[in-house]
Amino acid sequence: MKCSQGGNFSKGELQRFGNIELNPSAGVLNYGQGLFEGLKAYRKEDGNILLFRPEENALRMRQGAERMCMSAPTVDQFVEAVKETVLANKRWVPPPGKGSLYIRPLLMGSGAVLGLAPAPEYTFLIYVSPVGNYFKEGVAPINLIVEHELHRATPGGTGGVKTIGNYAAVLKAQSAAKAKGYSDVLYLDCVHKKYLEEVSSCNIFVVKGNVISTPAIKGTILPGITRKSIIDVARSQGFQVEERFVPVDELLDADEVFCTGTAVVVSPVGSITYKGKRVPYGVDGFGAVAQQLYSVLTRLQMGLIDDKMNWTVELS
Ligand code: PMP
Repeated sequence: MKCSQGGNFSKGELQRFGNIELNPSAGVLNYGQGLFEGLKAYRKEDGNILLFRPEENALRMRQGAERMCMSAPTVDQFVEAVKETVLANKRWVPPPGKGSLYIRPLLMGSGAVLGLAPAPEYTFLIYVSPVGNYFKEGVAPINLIVEHELHRATPGGTGGVKTIGNYAAVLKAQSAAKAKGYSDVLYLDCVHKKYLEEVSSCNIFVVKGNVISTPAIKGTILPGITRKSIIDVARSQGFQVEERFVPVDELLDADEVFCTGTAVVVSPVGSITYKGKRVPYGVDGFGAVAQQLYSVLTRLQMGLIDDKMNWTVELS
């Protein structure tokens, strides 16, 4: 789908996956005008396919577009395009329990622009790929390291929207952490350097007794759709959930820690290395709370339990 700046997107068409043409002075290539989303389709036992809260991805892309001076598809256009793309690729949705189809909607400034300005034209496209687990550990616990030098977001910046530049900003710290054997990096706020932010591609939760705390949404972390869903699921399961500033020192006496995201679902954190000290969690890293929430969320996403929240969209 394409549209000129400030205009409306016209209906797009299905195309075989392949290279796309871009003007060398496209806004996305020169000034980073790019936003993406990520969601998953699961196959049910009866063969039908379930999407999870696709309108939330559409809304987040629209909020991002506002911050990045881009035109965006409407919520209906976005959701319809996702449905059409998934149905056209139905055979790639893995059987129940064997993974999911990852859906990647992408919005970019495709119009040519030389001097710094928003691009005059925008392109919205979606591609898909079957996926298994995100971390090589699978659903086994991941090991994080707290990053003290590099930051992924600053107050007033673009950390709260899903723009491509945020991911360029994490590559260095993430690569260094992986080279040392860690799964990923846990970022701190860049002002006080003491409050938890998030991991390179997922949100973080800290458990102490019956209380589950997660950093509040304040412009520098991505408002994850899994985060929002897990907060509701946890409250419905009787946990007390606090969205607040979470000092990094709370990691030292937490009962367990877990991450949430479309790709990682709910991943238990086995250990966090902070100021050179490795803090282990749970029994062999598997926290009971993370396991309970993982089980409820994935069964909901796969259509194995009643969707009382009305979060899933069924395609046949
Ligand atoms: N934070 C970042 C930086 C992310 O890239 C993601 C993945 N989209 C998340 C958090 C989790 O968001 P969601 O639950 O919507 O996938």
